[in-house]
Amino acid sequence: MQPALFPRLRIAVSDCLRGTECRYNGGHAQDDFINQQLANYADFLPFCPEAPVLGTPRETIQLVGIDGKIHVMGTRTRRDVTEGIENYTHRMVPKLLEQRIDCAIVKSRSPSCGLERIKVYRPNGQWFGSSDPMSSGVFTAHLQQSAPQLAIEEEGRLQDAWLRESFMMQVFTAARWREFLAAEPSLADFQAFHRDHKYLLLSKNETLYRHLGALVATTRKDNLQESLRGYGYLLMELLAYRSKRGHVRNVLDHIYGYFKKQVSEDEKQHYHDTVQEFVDGIIPLVAVIKILEQFVKRYGSDYLQSQVFFHPYPPELALRSKITAYR
Ligand code: SF4
Repeated sequence: MQPALFPRLRIAVSDCLRGTECRYNGGHAQDDFINQQLANYADFLPFCPEAPVLGTPRETIQLVGIDGKIHVMGTRTRRDVTEGIENYTHRMVPKLLEQRIDCAIVKSRSPSCGLERIKVYRPNGQWFGSSDPMSSGVFTAHLQQSAPQLAIEEEGRLQDAWLRESFMMQVFTAARWREFLAAEPSLADFQAFHRDHKYLLLSKNETLYRHLGALVATTRKDNLQESLRGYGYLLMELLAYRSKRGHVRNVLDHIYGYFKKQVSEDEKQHYHDTVQEFVDGIIPLVAVIKILEQFVKRYGSDYLQSQVFFHPYPPELALRSKITAYR
């Protein structure tokens, strides 16, 4: 296979995850995946909604529901710091989006940065369990509202191989699309982008893949810009689907179909046994991919050579090497 080129990612990130000592206690929350792996492929745009407003170290804060609105208050003093956090948020979110970020990785369990399951306390500071609401952190809620299709994950959830693989597939493809648009593509470029992503798109959602194909098929030079906008929207919708073994198996079998008349009986048996072991959760996807790459090399196929599905992200991230990366 030809060596793949990968776009450089633009990642908005909670600054404490980068190792900056901006947490309430003067500490950090350095994350190995972000700083030791992703850093090789990404430029980071850090943010911290609390430290510039409240200083470090500082009193811990919590979300409090008052008359249907979420406030941010000190847990001990009950000081209302909503305005300062919101001012920072409304300044910083547009700046990040202007930079055309591909995703955001946020600190879990933070009333400012958390993505989900942040407790909203009652005005007296109490929380009564499941009958009381939960929310996103103030900053991340605004980021989601401002960019509903942006990929956002918490560092803790990215320890899960399945969520990590799906997220990185989403983010690298979004970055490839960003770079593609920046190069002012022609109609032929647009058709080539769709063709090269065929199996990646199919592995996510066949219905949306067909919608995308129909959009490309009806594009002419005079409606190219409109089609690109529609395609980008649908593409982000498709990429938000998480990887499923059954869908991936269909794609593997499609690709194998190119060679089924050429392979030997031994090769055929080996492929079918290996793909079944992948479906049964005994071996990782990379084992099947290696067999198909061998077929492409031995029997040749220009069409498959250029399929992004084979290398959607840098292989060094080893995202397809874990059995748990697919469900
Ligand atoms: S506000 Fe966010 S970035 Fe700042 S320390 Fe807290 S979790 Fe980290």
